[in-house]
Amino acid sequence: MGNEDQAKCVRCGACLSVCPVYEVTAHERFSPRGKQDLLGWLLSRGGRLAGCQGLLETLKACLQCHACSAVCPAGVRVDDLVWQVRRQTTSHTGLPWWLRGSFRAAASMPGVSSAMMKLPGSSGLLNRVLGLAAQGLDLGEMPEIAPVPALLADDIRSLAGDRERGAVGALFVGCVQNYMFPNVVRGMARWFNNRVFVPSGQVCCGLSAFSSGDVDLARSLAETNLMAFADTRTDFILTGCASCASMIKKWPLLFEPGDPMRERAEDAARKVVEFTEAVVRFHVVPEKIELLHPGPALLHLPCHQRYDACSREAPLALMEGLYPGMVSMLGECCGHGGAFSLGNPRLSSLIFQKRMEAVREIRPRVLFTTCSGCLLQWRSRLPRDPDMPVVIHPAEALVAD
Ligand code: SF4
Ligand code: SF4
Repeated sequence: MGNEDQAKCVRCGACLSVCPVYEVTAHERFSPRGKQDLLGWLLSRGGRLAGCQGLLETLKACLQCHACSAVCPAGVRVDDLVWQVRRQTTSHTGLPWWLRGSFRAAASMPGVSSAMMKLPGSSGLLNRVLGLAAQGLDLGEMPEIAPVPALLADDIRSLAGDRERGAVGALFVGCVQNYMFPNVVRGMARWFNNRVFVPSGQVCCGLSAFSSGDVDLARSLAETNLMAFADTRTDFILTGCASCASMIKKWPLLFEPGDPMRERAEDAARKVVEFTEAVVRFHVVPEKIELLHPGPALLHLPCHQRYDACSREAPLALMEGLYPGMVSMLGECCGHGGAFSLGNPRLSSLIFQKRMEAVREIRPRVLFTTCSGCLLQWRSRLPRDPDMPVVIHPAEALVAD
């Protein structure tokens, strides 16, 4: 994008009404329209940001939520423009060094990364959390790191053997679920009862790296994952995170035509399916349906579920079946946005406070969401108060046997 898309903009302002960053800043340069003015101009001049703090702030202040593109009547894609400029200026706006180092280690040395996970009490995430603390970021109260990451837990590792016993779906865990929410993985395995297995050697899907413009790192992570899933010959790849699903659908973009990895990436992109969509599409019915938490329930639909190649109807259908009359937050970002919450903690917190208005009005007892980043945001920022809802993934909705 650049001048061509800038020429298409009719300056109607429709994108301003849906942009979570503009919602809390009310500042034109943080709106999609303002971004495309500033960044389109920058791109047409070679994309050099050096010394321009205002432009750097504008570039950082985008969640890549795609809401602006979804409503633009002229077909302008401001999220693409932001991404293109980030790609050109990755050394200025990429991931924090400690997070990039952690992802690089996982991509190039999955064995070492796996060994680090075994450090007592740390799950190998300790270095990332220390990195956060060192930067003095306000991230609310982080949920506890799992004592044993999902991919090393005996009950989940044993699911790898289900391949031999005839399981037809491969389960992609994702790094946040691995370190923080292994119960979501257990819940998915229960729903799919013997139909899914867990390939070992899988790492982060690469979305944070990709969104921040670090295509090399995203490609490296995708390659490691494609090797891990190479011999699986699955019917489908199941993930409990809408954002991971959206990134896996983008993997083919990371490889040139003719690269053997491109074919594997296309196969993975065709087969990946988000959990609620898989339950609805494959008519999965658990043996026992007993709700773990009473209603009222509130469903927060993640941006990647709404705008980015996942079904927005599936989570509604599934959760309304379990909680008739359930209320949904259909068009409202929680402010996490992966690396966005690290680079813009104040904006992330302000956006979250807007979502709290709905919680205070509806007063749910349980809140569901289908993205690991959204789960992290809700669980870390929700006040510690008995009146607040428990926050869980739909895969955790039922009582385990
Ligand atoms: S919605 Fe599209 S046409 Fe309207 S102001 Fe935004 S970018 Fe321009
Ligand atoms: S992608 Fe989202 S955060 Fe970024 S400019 Fe568009 S609406 Fe705003």
